[in-house]
Amino acid sequence: MSARILRMSQLFARTLRDDPADAEVPSHKLLVRAGYVRRAAPGIYTWLPLGLRVLRNVEGIVREEMDAMGAQELQFPALLPREPYEASNRWTEYGDNLFRVQDRKGADLLLGPTHEEMFTLAVKDLYSSYKDLPVWLYQIQNKYRDEARPRAGVLRGREFVMKDSYSFDTTDEGLDKSYAAHRAAYIKTFDRLGFDYVIVKATAGAMGGSKSEEFLARSVVGEDTFVQCSSCGYAANVEAVTVPVPPALDHTHVPAAHAEATPDTPTIESLVDLLNAQFPRDDRAWDAGDTLKNVLLVLKHPDGTREPLAIGLPGDREVDQKRLEGQLEPIEVEPMDEAEFAKHPELVKGYIGPGVLGEESSSGIRYLLDPRIVEGTRWVTGADVDGRHVVDLVAGRDFTADGTIEAAEVRDGDLCPNCGSDDGGTLSSARGIEMGHIFQLGRKYAEALDLKVLDENGKLVTVTMGSYGIGVSRAVAAIAEDNHDELGLCWPREIAPAHVHLVAAGKGEELFDAADALADQLQAAGLDVIYDDRRGKVSPGVKFKDAELMGVPTIVVVGKGLVDGVVEVKDRRTGDRADVPLADVVAHLSA
Ligand code: ATP
Ligand code: MG
Repeated sequence: MSARILRMSQLFARTLRDDPADAEVPSHKLLVRAGYVRRAAPGIYTWLPLGLRVLRNVEGIVREEMDAMGAQELQFPALLPREPYEASNRWTEYGDNLFRVQDRKGADLLLGPTHEEMFTLAVKDLYSSYKDLPVWLYQIQNKYRDEARPRAGVLRGREFVMKDSYSFDTTDEGLDKSYAAHRAAYIKTFDRLGFDYVIVKATAGAMGGSKSEEFLARSVVGEDTFVQCSSCGYAANVEAVTVPVPPALDHTHVPAAHAEATPDTPTIESLVDLLNAQFPRDDRAWDAGDTLKNVLLVLKHPDGTREPLAIGLPGDREVDQKRLEGQLEPIEVEPMDEAEFAKHPELVKGYIGPGVLGEESSSGIRYLLDPRIVEGTRWVTGADVDGRHVVDLVAGRDFTADGTIEAAEVRDGDLCPNCGSDDGGTLSSARGIEMGHIFQLGRKYAEALDLKVLDENGKLVTVTMGSYGIGVSRAVAAIAEDNHDELGLCWPREIAPAHVHLVAAGKGEELFDAADALADQLQAAGLDVIYDDRRGKVSPGVKFKDAELMGVPTIVVVGKGLVDGVVEVKDRRTGDRADVPLADVVAHLSA
């Protein structure tokens, strides 16, 4: 594409000196203030000319790397029929996140949140033999999700741009190769996009499937928490961390369980103090991790049904709702409310013990334990009577549950699930923004939609698939998060809306003539230019502020130096300035 000049006198944008009231994170504030995006409705944004250029640049990089790996671009509609999503059960499973619409005849349609079904059907439509596979298909398209908490501008939108691709193979080995090819292409893509990222183990989520990794941009504003090991290469979204299960303990020496009055122990600390004073252990002191806390929750299934669930975990840990939901997706989780508690008089708040929990118990409530609660471990827990606890309750001997679940928070210093042992690594956590997600779907969609091909022996086999997403519009915000300072945005060169921001700083025809000519020369040299050609009331100070806010990597000022034949060339990121003879500027910048 040939280079362009955007004249500030005509540019469809207004810069703002103050942060918009609804913006919390830097990228959102700056993208609005610098005239890149405008809010149309909660979670729905309009891309103004500058923003659209950045979005297109990100899209361009993603497209180049997808094409380079050999994937083929196509485009599905965003408005989709219900039937395929019914066949995969996602019409229901997607729950409140799905935008469902009806046409004039009352037929159900949806706005696509992701397109596994449509791609599966397209391959079924066109292909029938193993010889046609593997095939890798992608699109870059607007997606629609009625997010519960749209947030931070384009970072979490209800309409957003996603690159989604899908691989189709006949064998598991083939799928492994397709997955590896995507992973390599993602590394190239994210290296070019210019932010700090980490690849972590992930859960497969609502899509189903097995092997799965996320590309997270390291960022304090991220909604995902990931952990990394201090000694091996292990990195995982906390949702995907599996706690190393300790070996069962010998409990022959543990006395029989006994219920005791524990007055005035409103906190776990006060309970632990009382235990150590009145019921000391023979081997060591009681601590908070020896108390068994039972948390009552309600599961909200996508079809609207509600189901109580109890989780038992060491008292020094909280339930991590995101981690829990990661295991249960698409089910959502809420704390148990008063009305639900009222249905279960056997549950004595603050003193709920395992005796009244479990599918076989009086409450009938499903009861799942943290994996650390192995056979032989010794606990203190509620006695199901106000003001009393049971001491020396032994897992396996005195209580059991319906299974285990990864729901307890992961803490800095926890043992690494991969290498953690006495001398192994420990975990530390940080926040990240999910930028990309690759995973092996397996045969779930091909089975639901009956995608089969003939293999070498003329036998019909079900195709195995992978699904790979990149948040294109989210990337614009993530890049801005990682590339700004107190003055404004500082785009990486490949992403910026222009190569040069040329400022005519002063008065007089001569100065503007020189700046006009320089803009033309820069364009002729193949550089995109934002040219601040505003005359009249707009002072040089305002122009400089706008240039810093907009964040083009090189700022060229035609001003006072012109009488000596020089212009100022400034690096937006480092602030370095140099006077360059007017005649050399184009060569200087092209270099
Ligand atoms: P999240 O956990 O952030 O909700 P997700 O796991 O639902 O994301 P995927 O279904 O894997 O997301 O979608 C692929 C990519 O699309 C994500 O990695 C992310 O970059 C992007 N994405 C997902 N939801 C949104 C959104 N609401 N706004 C902007 N980008 C999004
Ligand atoms: Mg995901």
